Amino acid sequence: MKLRIGNGIDVHKLSPGESLLLGGIKIQSSVSIVAHSDGDILIHALVDSILGALSLGDIGTYFPSDDLNYKNIDSSTFLNFSLQEMEKLKYKILNTDLTVILQSPSIKEYNNEIRKNLSTILGINLSQVSLKATTTDHLGFIGQKEGIGVLATTLLIHDEN
Ligand code: ZN
Repeated sequence: MKLRIGNGIDVHKLSPGESLLLGGIKIQSSVSIVAHSDGDILIHALVDSILGALSLGDIGTYFPSDDLNYKNIDSSTFLNFSLQEMEKLKYKILNTDLTVILQSPSIKEYNNEIRKNLSTILGINLSQVSLKATTTDHLGFIGQKEGIGVLATTLLIHDEN
């Protein structure tokens, strides 16, 4: 197949804290992400979209959250793993579209920095990485600031050369 598309979704609990890690960038915040790893939810959803596009399962298939070896692990380990699997199958990323669902803080001022960092890690241009953010208008667990969610959609193209 020439083109393959994948989606990824991740949700984490929030607790009082000082910062959020999103796409490798530290964001000033009065809440932090509760997670087994470093909690970079944006990278988790992105990895699942890449693995999903390749029909290779999900992040938990390779890095079980009950495995103590992965406690506080840097999420770039997950991302590098998915990129290696993608390269083995001779695919590359055409574009990725990421949506952060978070009531507050606003991540607007960090948007470009996050996109830049991800495009560097992924080895693609800035225009191939989209990052959006939305709230749930104070509804539900995200609106009540108990959690954060991320949706990722990634399109891969087979490298013919
Ligand atoms: Zn996660």
